[in-house]
Amino acid sequence: MKKRIVIALGGNALGNTLPEQMIAVKSTSKAIVDLIEEGHEVIIVHGNGPQVGMINQAMIELSRVDEKQPNTPLSVCVAMSQAYIGYDLQNAIREELLNRGLTGIPVATMVTQVRVDENDPAFHNPSKPIGRFMSKEDADIAAQKYGHEMREDAGRGYRRVVASPKPMEIVEIGAIRTLVDAGEIVIACGGGGIPVTLKGNHLRGASAVIDKDFASCVLAKELNADCLIILTAVEKVAINFGRENEQWLSDLSVEEAQQYIEEGHFAPGSMLPKVQAAVEFAQSAPGRTALITLLEKAKDGILGKTGTQIHQ
Ligand code: ADP
Ligand code: MG
Repeated sequence: MKKRIVIALGGNALGNTLPEQMIAVKSTSKAIVDLIEEGHEVIIVHGNGPQVGMINQAMIELSRVDEKQPNTPLSVCVAMSQAYIGYDLQNAIREELLNRGLTGIPVATMVTQVRVDENDPAFHNPSKPIGRFMSKEDADIAAQKYGHEMREDAGRGYRRVVASPKPMEIVEIGAIRTLVDAGEIVIACGGGGIPVTLKGNHLRGASAVIDKDFASCVLAKELNADCLIILTAVEKVAINFGRENEQWLSDLSVEEAQQYIEEGHFAPGSMLPKVQAAVEFAQSAPGRTALITLLEKAKDGILGKTGTQIHQ
């Protein structure tokens, strides 16, 4: 059955550097075009943690060497990351489509703003890791030098953390819907979307990075998608993750998932937002399902052969 699918791409779909990204988008595009080839309508969202950190750091250094350059707001850095990730992704998808003889399918990236609530408590509690991993010593230096908040990230080293408010509304949803309804492949809400707050008719950039898993859930609901697929670095979701009684899950009802969330099985900032986004989408209307799986397993996952399915 042909489905409308919103795909959220994780860090492993893009790599950590410009050359890594050029290579990574090729295999990412294969996974995406596998679904398009099956006749599904596909809308793509991607993360930007390493990239937005990299851009922001580069802009900070610019303002240090050129006193005429004020610092670049984080919202602008998110916009920059959407453009350059979208550029690589849309070209790689275009090429993969043409390589398979699928012609006449336009691919475009939408610079997307996402409204957040200026009173969201997340603005006072930075939680979203961005940029590179550092040693404790380097993290202490960065905190001193730039005033950045640094935090240990799941045993993998220290990273800068920034505010990550909840997405409320996608500003460009009308344009995205028009393109999707016309059969075009759209990359939207990159890096969770450019965070903005509404001031009368003015949209004001916010210093934050929205979680792409939550933004993809809002997009999937708005587009009345059948399926939200969150592609990441693990094939399935586990309970007791990393322990000897670890158990990989193939199928989860909304109630079971909520129970496991309460029991603390999913790490905040990594698996927790994915399961939360999956639950929110699956319970938003009958027939909607979410799938969390490995990037390379997208095709098998949609056929029900692998991954963790979350449903009502
Ligand atoms: P992405 O870039 O795709 O958003 P993240 O690193 O943020 O990836 O989140 C995926 C990671 O979450 C997995 O690679 C895994 O290490 C970790 N993780 C934490 N808790 C769990 C769990 N309960 N089950 C599976 N993976 C988990
Ligand atoms: Mg993540």
